[in-house]
Amino acid sequence: MDDSRLQDVSEAGKRAIASISDVPQYIDGNFVDSESKEKFENISPFTNTVINQVASGEETDINKAVKAARKAFNGEWGNLKLKERLNYIYRIADLIDEHINEIAPLESYDTGLPISQTKKMVARSAHNFRFYAEMVSSRLVGDVYQVDDDFINYTIHKPVGIAGLITPWNAPFMLETWKIAPALATGNTVVLKPAEWSPLTAHRLAEIIDKAELPDGVFNVVHGYGETAGASLVAHPDVELISFTGETTTGSEIMKNGADSLKQFSMELGGKSPIIVFDDADVERALDACTWGIFSFNGERCTANSRLYVHENIAEFFTAKLKERVNNIVVGDPMKTDTQVGPLIHTNHYENVKAYLKIAEEEGCEVISGRVPEEMTAGNFIAPTVLLQADNSMRVVQEEVFGPVIAVMTFKEEEEVIEKANDVCYGLAGYVWTKDIQRGHRVAQKVDSGMLWVNSQNVRDLRTPFGGSKHSGIGREGGHYAFEFYTEVQIIHVALGDHHIPQFGK
Ligand code: NAD
Repeated sequence: MDDSRLQDVSEAGKRAIASISDVPQYIDGNFVDSESKEKFENISPFTNTVINQVASGEETDINKAVKAARKAFNGEWGNLKLKERLNYIYRIADLIDEHINEIAPLESYDTGLPISQTKKMVARSAHNFRFYAEMVSSRLVGDVYQVDDDFINYTIHKPVGIAGLITPWNAPFMLETWKIAPALATGNTVVLKPAEWSPLTAHRLAEIIDKAELPDGVFNVVHGYGETAGASLVAHPDVELISFTGETTTGSEIMKNGADSLKQFSMELGGKSPIIVFDDADVERALDACTWGIFSFNGERCTANSRLYVHENIAEFFTAKLKERVNNIVVGDPMKTDTQVGPLIHTNHYENVKAYLKIAEEEGCEVISGRVPEEMTAGNFIAPTVLLQADNSMRVVQEEVFGPVIAVMTFKEEEEVIEKANDVCYGLAGYVWTKDIQRGHRVAQKVDSGMLWVNSQNVRDLRTPFGGSKHSGIGREGGHYAFEFYTEVQIIHVALGDHHIPQFGK
């Protein structure tokens, strides 16, 4: 490890990186090898050299983890008092806070996400646990139905059982905790299958949860490939639900593979979100939001505004400013605090994004790219890129690139831009910029997306629903919406008197 890379990193972060060792599974409260003893290499996005080896889980490891999760669910965890259960959740939050200075550097080191951005994501992760502990104690409430003087009916929420959680690499720690927190707080047990390209912080999370001393088997992590470990988790008959975040095609494959065991699915999938800028918008703020929305997280962001529709009256000005921004974005080592865009996660993904830039050229776009420092040749760097002269018929406008690449288009009329915004298979997020409040609401409501921001960048309150429409997902997580997925509602009907009962055969 080149120490000069870590000048901006805290002492705790330096120690965490210096002590990276091979990653084992975490099953039934123990850190163990895979049954097969197989491992895979974890590669640095910045140097493309091997960071460490990761235990490669398969069906037998998933079986072990599910068995442990079932035992915990039927045993100690399932029988805990609510307050005791939530105390564990608060303890996990406190431990994450204590270790932020280690987790954020590990995440940046592993994924290439700039450290200034991972710090914020990790802080959000602790909040996910605290938030769901509070939500369960205050909002996990049933309904009561009085039926004249004859009946009282009421609903209760019960944990579903074993939650299989499958997560991607683009904001690993945050997205894992986003699922684990509501799953555990509502009383389920968990088997997590993290993304194979970003194992470090999932392992750190297992260490933290181990330190929080949850009963054995409540939380398990099985590292491994999607096609083996992930697919076994999906097919397992004793896993009641799968919460998945990842690509749309993987989501559809998972639903097919889980169909035989009739699981519940929550699907957070891909996106190709529009940002619509009208000519009366606060142009500087819209530009800030547009630039941040596509180039933060290296463009590997599900809610990224990867399609810009700018009104033709301001298109020239806005595009010129966007090009200026792209040229000035600091591309560099993710471990440096001033870096704004780091290397992409993996060479395979880098090749995909590169291929899209070629396709853009072939489709007739003018491709304008910023700068990657010359010495950064070893990493998976793609310069922030603007695609001009794009239109909706192109693949680069229809397909998710998932890199620092924005397609720019113009429009004249409101109806026209709504039609263009909706003319993709995705419907995750959208952004509208205008000072006309009526138009803002009107357009917002007509865009097909699970989430829409007016005159705002992607700021989320944890109480609000998160999820997409069309091919961007099924169901909503976030706030009390997560309860619909992580709990089973039971209705209890109680007779208060002697109501009529037919007397067959009397
Ligand atoms: P991916 O679909 O390749 O992998 C996601 C996870 O699924 C990984 O853990 C992988 O191992 C696993 N997996 C792969 N094949 C599997 C199978 N057959 N059975 C079970 N598990 C399997 O996605 P990715 O490349 O890691 O992540 C990027 C994608 O995630 C992008 O499309 C992005 O838009 C999406 N994403 C969506 C959201 C959202 O909330 N909507 C958030 C973040 C990322």
